[in-house]
Amino acid sequence: SKWVYSFGGGATEGRAEMKNLLGGKGANLAEMANLGLPVPPGFTITTELCTYFYANGRAYPPELKTQVADAIARLENAMDAKFGDPANPLLVSVRSGARASMPGMMDTVLNLGLNDATARGLALRSGDGRFAYDSYRRFIQMYSNVVLDVEHHHFEDILDGHKRDKNYSLDTDLSAADWQAVIEDYKKAVERELGTPFPQDVQEQLWGAVGAVFGSWMNARAITYRRLHDIPASWGTAVNVQCMVFGNMGEDCATGVAFTRNPSTGENAFYGEYLVNAQGEDVVAGIRTPQHLTIAGKIANKSDLPSMEEVMPDVFNQLNEVRLKLELHYRDMQDIEFTVQQNTLFMLQTRNGKRTAPAALKIAVDLANEGVIDKNEAVKRIDPASLDQLLHPTLDPKADRKVIAKGLPASPGAASGKVVFNADEAEQMAAVGDSVILCRIETSPEDIHGMHAARGILTSRGGMTSHAAVVARGMGRACVSGAGELRIDYKTKQMSVRGVTIKDGDIITIDGSTGEVMLGEVPTIQPELSGDFATLMGWADSIRRMKIRTNAETPLDARTARKFGAEGIGLCRTEHMFFDPARILAVREMILAESEEGRRTALAKLEPFQKQDFVDLFTIMAGLPVTIRLLDPPLHEFLPNTDEDMAEVAKATGTDPLRVRHRVTQLHEANPMLGHRGCRLGISYPEIYEMQARAIFAAAAEVSKASGSTVIPEVMIPLVMTKKELDILKAVVDRAAQEVMASTGQSFEYLVGTMIELPRAALRAGDIAEAAEFFSFGTNDLTQTTFGLSRDDAGNFLPDYQRQGIFEHDPFQTLDTVGVGELIALAAERGRATRPGIKLGICGEHGGDPASITFCESVGLDYVSCSPYRVPIARLAAAQAAL
Ligand code: PEP
Ligand code: MG
Repeated sequence: SKWVYSFGGGATEGRAEMKNLLGGKGANLAEMANLGLPVPPGFTITTELCTYFYANGRAYPPELKTQVADAIARLENAMDAKFGDPANPLLVSVRSGARASMPGMMDTVLNLGLNDATARGLALRSGDGRFAYDSYRRFIQMYSNVVLDVEHHHFEDILDGHKRDKNYSLDTDLSAADWQAVIEDYKKAVERELGTPFPQDVQEQLWGAVGAVFGSWMNARAITYRRLHDIPASWGTAVNVQCMVFGNMGEDCATGVAFTRNPSTGENAFYGEYLVNAQGEDVVAGIRTPQHLTIAGKIANKSDLPSMEEVMPDVFNQLNEVRLKLELHYRDMQDIEFTVQQNTLFMLQTRNGKRTAPAALKIAVDLANEGVIDKNEAVKRIDPASLDQLLHPTLDPKADRKVIAKGLPASPGAASGKVVFNADEAEQMAAVGDSVILCRIETSPEDIHGMHAARGILTSRGGMTSHAAVVARGMGRACVSGAGELRIDYKTKQMSVRGVTIKDGDIITIDGSTGEVMLGEVPTIQPELSGDFATLMGWADSIRRMKIRTNAETPLDARTARKFGAEGIGLCRTEHMFFDPARILAVREMILAESEEGRRTALAKLEPFQKQDFVDLFTIMAGLPVTIRLLDPPLHEFLPNTDEDMAEVAKATGTDPLRVRHRVTQLHEANPMLGHRGCRLGISYPEIYEMQARAIFAAAAEVSKASGSTVIPEVMIPLVMTKKELDILKAVVDRAAQEVMASTGQSFEYLVGTMIELPRAALRAGDIAEAAEFFSFGTNDLTQTTFGLSRDDAGNFLPDYQRQGIFEHDPFQTLDTVGVGELIALAAERGRATRPGIKLGICGEHGGDPASITFCESVGLDYVSCSPYRVPIARLAAAQAAL
């Protein structure tokens, strides 16, 4: 087999496309050589060899020795030098290079091939010898550390000692003779630590370094990095052996790193840093202050040091040409490394550069406008999830932060404010202009007004689909949920975490994009929905097939969603409309009533409110489709739980408070999520759904008449498990429609459909579709019921499941395509078989998750519906899914 691929020096065997075999660095070195750029010659030992190495007890195949020897001989020819030759030594670097970039995780050895004899030879060939001995001491330290496991501090102590003795402050103060003395001490230290002398045989050095780089694939750092970035261990790393070029031979030498465009802003300007008379690791180590590449960069960063553009104008111009050539060739912003040896430029690396979310957007739009990529490609290049960073305030990256706890990143954005522990106080303080963070063990629908008034919400319990998380995302409030280490004590109005106590009124900052909780106020940066954002979203809209709707029930959310491009409402949760202080009493009256008549009396009070809610929504949505779900949650969520609340209901209804208490106990359920909720309420108390349907139709008739645009409401029945339920409730809705038509004298169209939230409903979708004109997959409940996992409690133990690799993702965040997804695919198929063209959508939290949206496209759903702030993400993800 072929294990070794050459590059540079006129004999390049690899290409950029061979990343899997040659690793990113090796493939791109080959590509640059193919482009005619100045790449020091070298060769790559393939990732397949890494696999062989680990499969064979860290041994090499027999033919490797000859292949490496031939490759070294080629380098000797190209450089007119010899590996290990005291008079004219060839020196090489040995570096790792995996398929995916793993910066700093694996090992590198520079200046390999130096020993006592070759260092002397190099010294004779290069001026005063300082460069040669400086390189040798660097090599001894690096090789001993990386290959032989001798700790850095042994060498640092020796060098510090020499500098102290001579009264030097800088490394550059040392002469050739000084370095020779340091080297003698370094070698002694190595022999003392290892019991054997530092290896003088250059072949032994080479194979030692190659083995160390392959070995570093399995070091603890690299393993952790792979786990965090989903990189499989089976990929392996390649090893690149390359002729050394020296940036540390004198004042006409330099080394640097650069980006072809600004990686923080995306601006089309060359951006980078370099150091004169230095070797690569010096730039990274931060011992000396690097200088800017360009005059503009120098001015922008208020640097006193001259730029490369001024110091080495010719080499700079050459580098700038390389920059343009690489960008055009790779059609993306590049991150490059270079070295200048005696005024000659050498390229050591190129790769697609990492960038911030705003930079990614600007670069993609600019490249498309420059004609370098097409619009589809620009749309593909933006990570939809990263748009979050553009829609919400973010923490100022330059600011200090004191993180005290971490929870789930439940709703993006950063917010600071005074800590407050209950919703009423949050509202009162916000009313007088305070910024507040509402801190609760968990939230319930009764906290909505406080959540709305707060800048951010922090809970110590609950997962990504907990009440706090769902509501905060809907409102666009920052939220950190389930910060389990926080102990919140409502009585003393304080919370504590690892010895830190935070009182009512203290200021904290939360970052809903990372889940971090910080002490004090950390400055934030406001989002700017620039022209680039609008441009890219426009391109995405022209590509996608699926419609994007929003989950919204308040006028504010509906307006926000339209501003973000929503094309209708996919889920209006009517129960959220019942918590308004002006209504809750009537709601409680209705629930606690012991007869139909009592319920109807209370419902009559609610009906005008409901109708007005729908008038508002229909008006804002101006003819776009609006799906309204009839009452869904378990009734206990509305029950009065304090004595005062019970007394209030008793008074309003003229009943004995004890009777109210009795009724509350009677309505208590052991397992409310599987209890009397959803359409089961409609089955028991059809008058509730009747009132809601009447309010919907009356509002639709009114808005259609007033605005002239036809409103076609979609009435949705939740938690259906049988066709019979739907038949019965559809008849209730149809009767209400007839009633409104008769009383208004207007006829109108409407649809009646159902949510698919139970496995049985998915399985029986064929007959349910006989009654349903549309399906909306309620994947929050469908995930809960398919897994048998409580959406309210799973947050407490799901991290264990993710740690142990049982779940790759939280199934409440990213759709379980093989389980829950199979039910969706099957229901879609059976529904369509009964009713071709049946309208299909999704309205669970997954409707705003890019990976889940890809799945929705694959089963051909008509739309996804998500919270307002996720609408842009969904627009982009739907476009990518369609490409
Ligand atoms: C669902 O279950 O996915 C859904 C959208 O309804 P809710 O979250 O209100 O139960
Ligand atoms: Mg549901």
